[in-house]
Amino acid sequence: MPKVVKTKEALTEELKKLKEGKKSTGFVPTMGALHQGHLSLIRKCQEENDLVIVSIFVNPTQFNDKKDLANYPRKEEADLQKLNRLDVDLIFYPDDKEMYPEGVKKTDYKIGALANKLEGKHRPGHFQGVVTVVQKFFDLIQPDKAYFGQKDFQQYLVIKKMVEDLNQKVEIILFPTVREKDGLAMSSRNVLLNLQDRKRAPILFKTLNRAKVKLMSQEVSEVKEWAMGFMESYPGFKAEYFEVLDLESFKPLTKVETGKKYIVCGALQIDNVRLIDNIIIS
Ligand code: AMP
Repeated sequence: MPKVVKTKEALTEELKKLKEGKKSTGFVPTMGALHQGHLSLIRKCQEENDLVIVSIFVNPTQFNDKKDLANYPRKEEADLQKLNRLDVDLIFYPDDKEMYPEGVKKTDYKIGALANKLEGKHRPGHFQGVVTVVQKFFDLIQPDKAYFGQKDFQQYLVIKKMVEDLNQKVEIILFPTVREKDGLAMSSRNVLLNLQDRKRAPILFKTLNRAKVKLMSQEVSEVKEWAMGFMESYPGFKAEYFEVLDLESFKPLTKVETGKKYIVCGALQIDNVRLIDNIIIS
């Protein structure tokens, strides 16, 4: 089994030993219930670094919904077995008290405009919780590179901006979304879907792909209206947002211009399970 440390003190001590003679340290933060998306991210990290640290922590400060936090899947034994097979160097597996000894106190770092749209708008306080915990991890681990998935593209942008704003010396790497055979983006939350909803969930990815085609000939507003309706094809499916944004500025577009890269993002609530996805279009 790989070495698992649960306290900051043990983490610092282990890191001191492990980092000796190693050129680069890669870090993959996760909330556990690991799937192939996480594992691919970790493999990429192993390819590019001599030392690989993975954290598993269901961060309470990034949940704006108490029920969502309570229902979030936790699979310690299975996760450790998966990481054992991958042969990661060190796993940081703290509990809430270890990460928040003074209770839930968020960082004062100001995210700015990114916090007010899409995920930020629909999950108030979510990104403030994300930057709080990621800052703590970066301080403790001091990685050279940290890996984030494209499924949470806005999260990647928030972290990248934080690192720039605070002059942190870590390179932020984006990794493409890993999908199930039917197109559904892998997510720890997928296991919460019942059988019927699981079969229907690829509607989100389907919406993004059909929208891509429609955007070639239709106005963004028209496609948006269609997409919001299409995502709600099944009973219990509630579309939260559908946006077309400029990839560089992450500003919503009213018109798609040729030669520019853009990103189409959607969020869909299926009963109590919230799924997000996006595709980048060039
Ligand atoms: P999470 O455990 O959901 O917080 O995710 C941990 C990291 O894995 C984040 O950087 C996610 O963006 C990334 N991730 C989650 N799902 C996928 C996926 N299907 N493909 C690639 N990366 C993913």
